[in-house]
Amino acid sequence: MSVRTFPNYIDGAWVEGPTFENRNPANTGEVVGLHVSGTPSDIARAAAAAEAAFPAWSAMNGPARGALLYKVAELLDARFEEISAEMTREEGKTLPEAKGEVRRSINIFRYFAGEGSRLAGTMAPSERPRVHMFAVRKPVGVVALITPWNFPSAIPAWKLAPALICGNTVLMKPASAAPLSAWRLIEACHDAGIPPGVVNFVAGGGGALGAALLNARPVKAISFTGSCGVGEKLHEEASRRRLRIQLEMGGKNPTIVLADADFEAAVENVVNASFFSTGQKCTATSRAIVEESIYDRFVEAVAERTRKLKVGDGMQPGVDIGPCVDEGQMKTVLEYVEIGRTEAGEPVCGGRRLTGPGFDEGWFVAPTVFAGVTPEMRIAREEIFGPVLAIMKARDFNHALEVANGSEFGLSASLQTTNLSRMFEYVYGMEAGLLTVNLPSAGVEYQLPFGGTKDSSFGPKEQGPAAMEFYSDWKTVYIKY
Ligand code: NAD
Repeated sequence: MSVRTFPNYIDGAWVEGPTFENRNPANTGEVVGLHVSGTPSDIARAAAAAEAAFPAWSAMNGPARGALLYKVAELLDARFEEISAEMTREEGKTLPEAKGEVRRSINIFRYFAGEGSRLAGTMAPSERPRVHMFAVRKPVGVVALITPWNFPSAIPAWKLAPALICGNTVLMKPASAAPLSAWRLIEACHDAGIPPGVVNFVAGGGGALGAALLNARPVKAISFTGSCGVGEKLHEEASRRRLRIQLEMGGKNPTIVLADADFEAAVENVVNASFFSTGQKCTATSRAIVEESIYDRFVEAVAERTRKLKVGDGMQPGVDIGPCVDEGQMKTVLEYVEIGRTEAGEPVCGGRRLTGPGFDEGWFVAPTVFAGVTPEMRIAREEIFGPVLAIMKARDFNHALEVANGSEFGLSASLQTTNLSRMFEYVYGMEAGLLTVNLPSAGVEYQLPFGGTKDSSFGPKEQGPAAMEFYSDWKTVYIKY
């Protein structure tokens, strides 16, 4: 079968050029597609096109922009099965997970399409006679969206849709490990009739294109999701240029399990949050902090449940966990497994690359559980971003909360308990941007703000009404009549 080339998209035109391969991490013999590798001059052209398209797009009324976003959602919906399967093939997550994510992208476009009819401003009574005062939202201008591979559709969607509905024009750079899912969003924007220049897409390596993005004069804001190292660099440069910036980065998310929790549900929630999507969700649990009276029983139950997880090609029915996204990610995971062995001893399950038929052509690691982990160990402090869980012991709730908060990260957290007071102590005491109770730490919806605290995040939150704050500015008006 011939492999299709996916061009970049600049000023309403598909732009060809040299390509890079997008390979299936479950079966590296399969090239899912060839993507055109953009250049710094493509970035400059895309930024100029976005700048030229900005006056007309921002002047279009909100409901009209909303109608185009509804159309994008419809077009994605019409190809739901195909787009979901492509995601599994490029990123490795299972087909049901990919379907869940594509559904979320569609819902995100519908949600923000509706915002086009609101774009709520604010009004207040003046202290002065015969003065009417109010504030309206205005777009920021050209915004650059830099996205990671782990949610290759939903993250681009939750940046793109609010950016567009607020009247901004966009330059998107997807992650090279999984660019096709984002490309499908851009294709839908084109097919929906969003005018040339409003949306631009340049795939390619972060290093070279990142510098070009930062130096593109028309760019007024950057929304970035990815690793802390890259986020920090972007922040330094963006501050120098006084760009508006939003960073969503790494995590080391804890789940606290108390003795009064529904034990079976807690085991299921921890295993789900730690290993589904191969532990490659930014909100995945990587530390379980367990009250000592149930600790041994909990470790045993988690190990037993984990051993039952079926690892394999996410296109196969019944598979729970796919591969790591690429060889580099797998090597990082295996390195941390060795670090864990040195620090905490032999894992209670997993701890190796999977080999044999069905595994040899992919980047598969057995889901791994370390017990007896203590807070100073590297596997308790550093983001691994793979299927590795560290289980730690706590004397009581207060001790568990202290351990949970003893991290530089603060993205998500979970508590398993039936005690209402503990729930509220956790709600007010846990240092994280996203809290769950009696649910996995991962699994978010688009209708409420999303983002972390501490070193995990910087700037305004994403999604829900919060997204409007990043993608719009205020203009305040006083009228004497
Ligand atoms: P990454 O930082 O390597 O890459 C993210 C994006 O930045 C990619 O598009 C990449 O090409 C680009 N990039 C790389 N170097 C750049 C540079 N110098 N200038 C500009 N852009 C550059 O991250 P990743 O490996 O794609 O994703 C995994 C990371 O993302 C993990 O740390 C994970 O925790 C984080 N993440 C966070 C969230 C969140 O909401 N907090 C969500 C998903 C993923």
